[in-house]
Amino acid sequence: MNAAVGGVLAPSPARRASRDLEVALLVTLPAAALVSSVSTPAAIGRLVGPCWVHVLTGFPCPTCGITRALVALARGRWWAAFQVQPLITIAATLAVLYMPWAAGVLARGWPPLRIELRGPKRRALRWSIVGAVLINWAYLIRAGV
Ligand SMILES: [Zn+2]
Repeated sequence: MNAAVGGVLAPSPARRASRDLEVALLVTLPAAALVSSVSTPAAIGRLVGPCWVHVLTGFPCPTCGITRALVALARGRWWAAFQVQPLITIAATLAVLYMPWAAGVLARGWPPLRIELRGPKRRALRWSIVGAVLINWAYLIRAGV
């Protein structure tokens, strides 16, 4: 146990935020996997509702296909998930791979894994993410997801 838990030192806001991410991962991913594995994709689709961008324009939005991809992932169909939503499939896979470490962060006080970049490297990462989202969106439109 560290001093922060005992109340002598309060964890910094950044430290709390780090643990919030681990808690969110360890709660939401298993819950999403459970719901996805015991329900049908159609039932989940009715719960989530239609994508209004897709309904109004006929084109998928950048997040279209996430539900179908997560359902496919929960059922162990990684390639099917990747074909529906490549970017979220990669992100969810990385999140799942991080789960054991996240458990260690919460249970054992391991340091959270974070990418901390400044200046040009930070901007390069930000633009890379924007680029990945745009490429993924172009794929969704081309594939007719
Ligand atoms: Zn959409």
